[in-house]
Amino acid sequence: MLRTAITLYLFSTVLATAFFTSYVLVTSRARYRKYLSAMVFSLCLYLFGYLMELQSTDLDRMYFWNQVQYFGLPFYPSLWLAVVLFYARRIKTLGRPLLAVLFFVPAFTFLLRLTNPLHHLYYRSIHISGSGEFPLLHLQKGPWYYVQSLHALVCMLAACWILYRLFMQSGNSPTDRLRLLLHLNASLLPFLGLGLILVDFGGNGLDYGALLAPVSLSIMIYTVFRFDFLELLSLARESIFENSRDAMLVLDNDLRILDHNKEAEALLSPDQGALLNRPLQDAIRTRPDLASRFTEDSPWSFLLDNQGLDKWYEVTTSPLKNHMGRSVGILKNIRDVTDRKKLEQELQKLATIDGLSGLYNRRRFMEVAQMEFLRTKRSQKAFSILMVDLDHFKRINDTYGHGAGDEVIRAMGRLLRNTFRKTDSCGRLGGEEFAVLLPDTGSADAFHVAEIFRKETARTLIPYGDRTLAVTASIGVATFSGSPQDLDNLLQQADEALYTSKVQGRNKTTGAFR
Ligand code: GH3
Ligand code: MG
Ligand code: MG
Repeated sequence: MLRTAITLYLFSTVLATAFFTSYVLVTSRARYRKYLSAMVFSLCLYLFGYLMELQSTDLDRMYFWNQVQYFGLPFYPSLWLAVVLFYARRIKTLGRPLLAVLFFVPAFTFLLRLTNPLHHLYYRSIHISGSGEFPLLHLQKGPWYYVQSLHALVCMLAACWILYRLFMQSGNSPTDRLRLLLHLNASLLPFLGLGLILVDFGGNGLDYGALLAPVSLSIMIYTVFRFDFLELLSLARESIFENSRDAMLVLDNDLRILDHNKEAEALLSPDQGALLNRPLQDAIRTRPDLASRFTEDSPWSFLLDNQGLDKWYEVTTSPLKNHMGRSVGILKNIRDVTDRKKLEQELQKLATIDGLSGLYNRRRFMEVAQMEFLRTKRSQKAFSILMVDLDHFKRINDTYGHGAGDEVIRAMGRLLRNTFRKTDSCGRLGGEEFAVLLPDTGSADAFHVAEIFRKETARTLIPYGDRTLAVTASIGVATFSGSPQDLDNLLQQADEALYTSKVQGRNKTTGAFR
């Protein structure tokens, strides 16, 4: 009776686990579905071996089917822990070190079990015991058997501990608590199996671990699928998080990185690898200047050389609160704002640069002149201003059209930029009127460079279509060396000097030397 029941039970669970192996893989959207599926499959192999072992009556067959169990059995606890680690979001991928810790012992167990006749490290001896309802294989344990058992025990204890911690932190969401409680129970069941084996429940030598495993697995699969909608919700959020073009960091209140997306890793630790679970300050050690600013709550931006390109990033901070409204962490969002910054700079330029001549516009020139005025006033030095007006400019417009006039203004822009020093400032004050500010330049030097520029202007031929245009300029020079009292007066002096140049016949330079 018991024999038939166990056979039927095992047979149906082998079928069910075989089915679920692929079902999980196809239908689950969890990112750990591969491991879940591998876990179900390992149990399937284990139970299949056990089923066949129980069906066998001679030692050779039993021994063979016992071997088959070891394709699955040793890996089951490790896979269980891996799934729990994923489920509890302790890890996002199974890195190599963790893979080694989890699977070294099981893989070695598998090998030792396979080669046991050579060394007897796993089983010392084997015999059939006829007691109980049916003949059972009795194996006398070798040293490695205890290593494997200890490893399995540690894996299952770790899984329980993780789920227990999560359960305790799960707040007051009933679904969350139920889901974790079910998971926890599923992970605790194998311990019941172990206990039953230890006390030799029923005295029949049955492997209660094997018999209870399907129950705990069913609970786990039920939980995963029953609460899959939660998984879906969090996956939706996760997908937004993962696929965002912004770099995102989730920090706890001590600024430890609990989570981050791909962009964050690419941006902040291209050659350092793991950011996860490290204090922010450590994680971006290459930029200590940034690390300290990351504690700021208000938005701020920084410039980073990203693969040879200057990129601007803006960091914004959102507090993360739990159901009770208590702050539990911080979300840092790092957005590439290079395009916006460029646009701002472009606008800035537009606001200060005259489009036609490429020189400062009137407003900017006046600002620069005002700054220079105040600076020179303090230092007791001198600076000069040239006022330049093109002669008979109207004629150019009238004779060749407005386009020609524009071309002349452009050419004058180039000529001004090329003639004067980088430290000088040139502006277009309006129409065909320009001004040059010469820092640290007295009246004689200013007059001298003005003359050079005037002659250069007269010599310059400006191509326009199939013509060449020529133009002359009248210049007025004014110098500040302690007086006058304000910039307007100085500009007025330059204007008056320019007027003198005009009335004296144009193409002339006049200094306002008083
Ligand atoms: P002068 O200064 O020698 O006394 O004679 P002018 O002909 O240069 O005299 P005025 O300053 O009165 O004329 C300036 C002309 O410049 C008037 C206007 O049509 C022209 N002008 C002003 N701004 C522009 C511009 O942006 N493009 C063009 N093509 N012409 C302009
Ligand atoms: Mg003019
Ligand atoms: Mg004019």
